[in-house]
Amino acid sequence: MKPRKPRQCSLCGRFSAPGTKECPYCGTRLVRPRFVMNKSRIAKVHTIAARKGLIDRKTGDDELYRLHLGAVGVSSSKQMKRGHYRAFLERMQKLPDIRPGRGAQC
Ligand SMILES: [Zn+2]
Repeated sequence: MKPRKPRQCSLCGRFSAPGTKECPYCGTRLVRPRFVMNKSRIAKVHTIAARKGLIDRKTGDDELYRLHLGAVGVSSSKQMKRGHYRAFLERMQKLPDIRPGRGAQC
């Protein structure tokens, strides 16, 4: 186990006892909920990847998708941690949709 340090509030900057989950001064959450790649996050990644043309739903060709996963440091969406997930979504935002005009789905 990691040694417990006093927590500093990101909003008011005050310190509170180790293990405190909420700032006693302003109520800001001091801990982030554990990140998990749940079904809806995995589905979102796949949906976006398909919309960006990285996965060909007809042929099942996902080479481009795999390249983008590799670029953020994973080989499967299930391995993603918060940082990977965020980096992947950022990359996707820079890519155009393959069928413009259909509107966002998520
Ligand atoms: Zn605070």
